[in-house]
Amino acid sequence: MLAGEKTRTETFLVKLFAVVPLLALAAAVPFAWGWGLSWTDVALTAGFYFLTGLGVTIGFHRYFTHGAFKANRGLRIALAVAGSMAMQGPVIGWVADHRRHHAYADRDGDPHSPWRYGTSAAALAKGFWHAHMGWLFDREKTNAQRFAPDLLADRDLVRIDRWFPALTVVTLLAPALIGGLVTMSWWGALTAFFWAGLVRVAVLHHVTWSVNSLCHLIGDRPYAARDKSANFWPLAIASMGESWHNSHHADPTGARHGVRRGQLDMSARLIWLFEKLGWATDVRWPKPERLARKLNPGFTSAPRGFGNPERGLPAGTSARKHPQYHPADGRNPASGAPYSPRA
Ligand SMILES: [Zn+2]
Ligand SMILES: [Zn+2]
Repeated sequence: MLAGEKTRTETFLVKLFAVVPLLALAAAVPFAWGWGLSWTDVALTAGFYFLTGLGVTIGFHRYFTHGAFKANRGLRIALAVAGSMAMQGPVIGWVADHRRHHAYADRDGDPHSPWRYGTSAAALAKGFWHAHMGWLFDREKTNAQRFAPDLLADRDLVRIDRWFPALTVVTLLAPALIGGLVTMSWWGALTAFFWAGLVRVAVLHHVTWSVNSLCHLIGDRPYAARDKSANFWPLAIASMGESWHNSHHADPTGARHGVRRGQLDMSARLIWLFEKLGWATDVRWPKPERLARKLNPGFTSAPRGFGNPERGLPAGTSARKHPQYHPADGRNPASGAPYSPRA
């Protein structure tokens, strides 16, 4: 399961890059608010936040980890680069850690479970810290040969994985460069570096880490999962749909995590756009009947869009009139063809 230990330098760099943006955030936001923040900074911060965040949610997570869709070469590379710019570690290690999380979720072997130390208040406080960021400082390294052999076999991805230090420099300096050019001033470069570089990285770090910590602790659990994952609505927008984490653990390969009515999922919307453009194919949109079978008592079935149960049926028939078209295994008994909500 593990592949040796991180070196001292590696652990030091992880600490440096996890802690410095956070300190910058805590110390300087109140200080610079009001006089060191221009509209250029706001636009650059939002732009880099969503670019790198979607690189993680759509790229590292839904695509590389779970294979929720197939991407053409250009999109595959763009997603790997954008995700690497979130400064959450190189793509192959990220994917290996996350696949290990799903394989052992909230049990022994999970790299970041808040339930690791027990269920008392003190154990959960310690567990929260561990799941949120403490686990990053563990010296254990997930075995990528075992958890991500598919990515190791792709030469382009191995190359992007090695470029991680260079992409870290790019993600911090690109906002400064653009800010400097837009305002034609060193001051503009400095404030853009601060807001769209450091502060943006820190905020995205904590939102991503909250999916590992908060979303295994608090929220609704509409679906039966083998772990304690939960749907935590306050993070839906900031996490770009990833905080619908109980739905995700119930159906890990699904391209949409916000599967219930009214659940915003920006990442799913963008995958839908990639599909329309022809860049993404074989998208695994959630199947309402599959989700309905996993529903916990007390929750009503309220799946949303993309899974109209009437679709995929022969013209003139209706699921309601012909319930035999929805057998438990999702196959059409007349033709034997797999039932597809997209057909
Ligand atoms: Zn999880
Ligand atoms: Zn996942």
